[in-house]
Amino acid sequence: MKKIYLSPSSQPANTYAGLSTNEQEVCRDIARELAADLKRCGFEVKCGDYGTMYDRVKESNEWKADLHMPIHTNAFDGKVSGTRLMALDLTGTGFKVCQAVMEPLDKITPGTSSNITANPGLYEIKAAVAPTCYVEVDFHDVPKVAKWLTENKAQIGEAICQGICRYYNAQYVAAGEKPAPTPTPEPQPAGKIEGLPVVQSGSRGDAAKILQGALIAKGYPCGSSGIDGVFGVNSVAALKSYQKAKGLTADGIAGPATWGKLLGV
Ligand SMILES: [Zn+2]
Repeated sequence: MKKIYLSPSSQPANTYAGLSTNEQEVCRDIARELAADLKRCGFEVKCGDYGTMYDRVKESNEWKADLHMPIHTNAFDGKVSGTRLMALDLTGTGFKVCQAVMEPLDKITPGTSSNITANPGLYEIKAAVAPTCYVEVDFHDVPKVAKWLTENKAQIGEAICQGICRYYNAQYVAAGEKPAPTPTPEPQPAGKIEGLPVVQSGSRGDAAKILQGALIAKGYPCGSSGIDGVFGVNSVAALKSYQKAKGLTADGIAGPATWGKLLGV
């Protein structure tokens, strides 16, 4: 079961144009809606709707979240509006989650100036161990958008949840619907292993560490930083060499076949 850590804004000073509410209040509400949606769809969720972003990142890391998701609304010049999503880079898991979330979320938000960008310097992207999809739903300094945000918290939660479900191949269960019975897992062909996540360029965390350790142990060094849990260029190169040597598809992506070979099952 994937663990999603929600980290809504703790910025009550960011007031909503023309309204007596603020970014903290609205984003915490959206996060609570989203938490309920995700739980209904089978995810484990922690909603850190308290403290500072430093407290929340610490909790997310200690909990070993699979995905870290800050939830904010944006402000610029009172005119521009759109959905802005941010990730560490434009190749890794965080970016792929952003892509999956952008479609359903951008479909409902009023703003049209929407994009996904790499923002590796942002604290919650840099310091969270899990891949991060940083959500700026839309711009609260545009009066009609501010009003829309306050009136559509549940819909925003549902749209983000649909995107997360899409990324993890989980069945989206709408509110009031019953989840489908869990299908019996198909038996895996010999030489493949289930339950380990796909590790590829940009992957971070424990699985990347395990893979680096296994590659190094087999004589495929992963660069000078060694077992650092960040699957970068040198780790991908090591993985490709290993795959080539073992007659696997040398794509630098560790899926069931590669894991199976590496771990000898
Ligand atoms: Zn914010």
